[in-house]
Amino acid sequence: MMRQYDAAKEACGDALLLFRMGDFYELFHDDAKVAAKELGLTLTSRDKNNPIPMAGFPHHQLDTYLAKLIQSGFRAAVCEQVEDPKTAKGLVKREVTQLVTPGTVTDLALMDPAECNYLVALVPQSPKKRKRRAADGEGRKGEQSQDVVGLAWAEIASGRFYVTSARRDSVADLLARLSASEILVSENCEFELPENEVMVTRRPPWSFSFDTAERTLKDQFKVASLDGFGIDRMDDSVICAAGAVIEYLKETHKGSLEHIDRVLPYRQSVYVEIDSASWRSLEVTRTLRGGSREGSLLGVIDRCTTPMGSRMLAEWLANPLTGREEIEARHDAVGEIVGNSSLRSGLISGMGEIYDMQRLIARVVTARTSPRDMQAICKTLSAVPVAKSQLSSAKCDLLKRLQADLDPCNELQTELAGALIDRCPPIARDGGFIREGYDKELDSLRELATGGKQWIANYQAKICEETGIKGMKVGFNKVFGYYLEVTNANKDRVPEAFIRKQTLKNAERYITPELKEYEEKVLSAENDALAREMLLFDQLRELVRVHTSRLKANSHILATLDALAGLATLAVEQSYCRPEMTDQQELEIVDGRHPVLDIIQPLGAFVPNDTQLGSGHGVLHLITGPNMAGKSTYIRQVALLTLMAQAGSFVPAASAKIGVVDKIFARVGASDELSKGQSTFMVEMTETARILNTASARSLVILDEIGRGTSTYDGVSLAWSIVEYMHDRIGCSCLFATHYHELTALEETLEGVRNYNVSVQEWDEKIVFLHKIVSGSADKSYGIHVAKLAGVPVSVNDRAAQILEKLEQGSDVEANRDAIMTPTEHPRRDQSGRIQLTLFGPVHHPLVDKVKALDPNRMSPMDALEMLHSWKRELEDDADDAGSNGTESEDQDSGEEKSEPQATA
Ligand code: ADP
Repeated sequence: MMRQYDAAKEACGDALLLFRMGDFYELFHDDAKVAAKELGLTLTSRDKNNPIPMAGFPHHQLDTYLAKLIQSGFRAAVCEQVEDPKTAKGLVKREVTQLVTPGTVTDLALMDPAECNYLVALVPQSPKKRKRRAADGEGRKGEQSQDVVGLAWAEIASGRFYVTSARRDSVADLLARLSASEILVSENCEFELPENEVMVTRRPPWSFSFDTAERTLKDQFKVASLDGFGIDRMDDSVICAAGAVIEYLKETHKGSLEHIDRVLPYRQSVYVEIDSASWRSLEVTRTLRGGSREGSLLGVIDRCTTPMGSRMLAEWLANPLTGREEIEARHDAVGEIVGNSSLRSGLISGMGEIYDMQRLIARVVTARTSPRDMQAICKTLSAVPVAKSQLSSAKCDLLKRLQADLDPCNELQTELAGALIDRCPPIARDGGFIREGYDKELDSLRELATGGKQWIANYQAKICEETGIKGMKVGFNKVFGYYLEVTNANKDRVPEAFIRKQTLKNAERYITPELKEYEEKVLSAENDALAREMLLFDQLRELVRVHTSRLKANSHILATLDALAGLATLAVEQSYCRPEMTDQQELEIVDGRHPVLDIIQPLGAFVPNDTQLGSGHGVLHLITGPNMAGKSTYIRQVALLTLMAQAGSFVPAASAKIGVVDKIFARVGASDELSKGQSTFMVEMTETARILNTASARSLVILDEIGRGTSTYDGVSLAWSIVEYMHDRIGCSCLFATHYHELTALEETLEGVRNYNVSVQEWDEKIVFLHKIVSGSADKSYGIHVAKLAGVPVSVNDRAAQILEKLEQGSDVEANRDAIMTPTEHPRRDQSGRIQLTLFGPVHHPLVDKVKALDPNRMSPMDALEMLHSWKRELEDDADDAGSNGTESEDQDSGEEKSEPQATA
């Protein structure tokens, strides 16, 4: 058996081998050690002289343990007994029946129903080919000299399969939005991949070769040429990637893949470009911290009823549209469902009857299906005519089209409904799921079996009467079939014809020739009925299989309807408005709310804000204000509203007019890429460079605190020139949140720049955040106030207040070094605890120098008196000057904070 194990282990590479032994799956050697650690299994061994580590679990827990292994980033091979141990001669034959990896899962129990599970292959274009294409001037415009990468991604659980060719520098963006589960690359590929976030599987280079790939695809789609899929004009590397995906799926899956019956080209220009850093920081499908769906935009706004709808919504958010007409088509549909409450409630309750057909079809095709799956398909099909009739009076084009294309597949539905009982079992093996009256042959076999049982019941009564043995029971066991059980008290009454088979503590078990005769009839009828049921099941499965493409099309429509109904429900529930889309560079939002905070904060707690950009209102808004005022929230809100609108959703605002954008960039908060050996500032600048190099006049850029990771002057200068570049050279719409008050001067020189700030109320040394965006620039940073709110120790805050005060008095740190370095021992406070400003005024008052320069020993009393008079006059003159300019402290406050914001930060 261990030889059999070794052979299987060799065939499955680095995957953990789950080896079926009777009712258990066992792991051996190092696999056992890994499993013991990862799955919490007990590590044991059988043979003390030759202890082989082993660990195992009961067979019915396979799904649970597989799911854990996959989530922990392992591959697992399942080696099954492929012979019936009862009939097998010698060692039971075993085979690896599936290789499960994160990107090739088909079992519903191993997948998150609300998330897509993509296997991606990527193939960089060969350098030789690149040069040749460049020399020949071949390829599409802009692609000739570009370093392109072929990408293909498939979800085996639903059969969806896409390809595209992407610029090398945009591959990471696409991968982030796809949220790939596993990536295939060639062993010799040097592409940098996020290996700590996703499983990367390296494969031999030949499996990415063009010829192999083309052959694999033609075989898969049963076509002589790939031209019909619209991928023939794409780069060869695309075909290589697509071929590699299919090749890998075949190898791991070991079942049919015929539900992957086409490949669709993914046209990037149709969708808003969002780079990976922006994608992450906008927290569209996952939160930045923790990476969970909960708390992300998707997690908060998903009102879909089915997992298919949730996945569709996730794809819409990951791929907002750039075509105004397509966007408006979705808005029309959402609007119609919003405006028609009976349609809305009808659709939602209809969706309650719909199962995850996309994934169920794949299970049918791959022969991993159960009667319950088939019934789910049948029930889903029964809901189709209902949805069709609900939509029969639809007015907008999209709903009309979906209505027309919904296909009830009547013949299939009728057949399944007629064949399957109302509550089907989850496994086919034990039968009992075909409805009575569906198949005559099955019915007669069942009758025979039940008839036989009835005979046995009658026989028992007859024997009891004949022998006078009361309470004689008829039982059944696998070893000697039906028997009669007589308690020891009645042993003497047993007739001679009874054949004793077993002695128990209090009873004896017998068989009789008559009983045996009927037993045979019953058992063979039962076996025949089961075999017949299996045959019928296979026929039904085949019937479903031939409907694959119609069912797939239906699933797509149902998912779309669910996503639209979900968006409509959200819009009604949260009082969203339909955004008016335009082709101008403009953004006009009245009472906009951040879609996530608006929902998770208590009702009415979120302060709505307006945005007016473009058409004479400036395209580059500088937003100043203290930390915690709500700057990031506001600029994210604008980006998320635009993204939602272009994904087809209504938006959280009283009204919105949104010019369609081609790209959304969000540089919000520093992402920690220290593991990649890059400093926070380096990451910030890399991301900024990306924006400056790729944004267009149609793009929306939100920037938060650019230049913060370096010295103040560096930072201000960089932020300043970035604003100028975006304004003068790109002309994109931009919201720039900044600490640097200096930047607000740009409003005077750059036509498209406008200053805004988040209003704050100061009261008794405390500040109250109003979270309201108002026109104009902020006058203070309030950093120390915020530090106090955050619980920084009082002594630290007091000392910071002293330093600030001194910095405000002098013009730079160098000149004030001594004064700054010397802390005031006990800061003076008034009765309310406020720090008192020093009485003596500026530390560098000229009188101080005069006093220092005096030599009293050389002065006459008269000179000294005169000197005192002159100082007094000087001080009185100063006080008069100060009085005519307002109070001393007010001047200091507003003067210097602007020049040294870093100190307040
Ligand atoms: P900043 O970027 O100015 O430091 P944030 O945008 O991070 O400030 O906001 C700080 C906190 O203020 C947020 O976590 C949020 O809870 C709250 N907040 C921001 N904007 C609003 C608003 N419009 N209404 C209510 N609370 C808000």
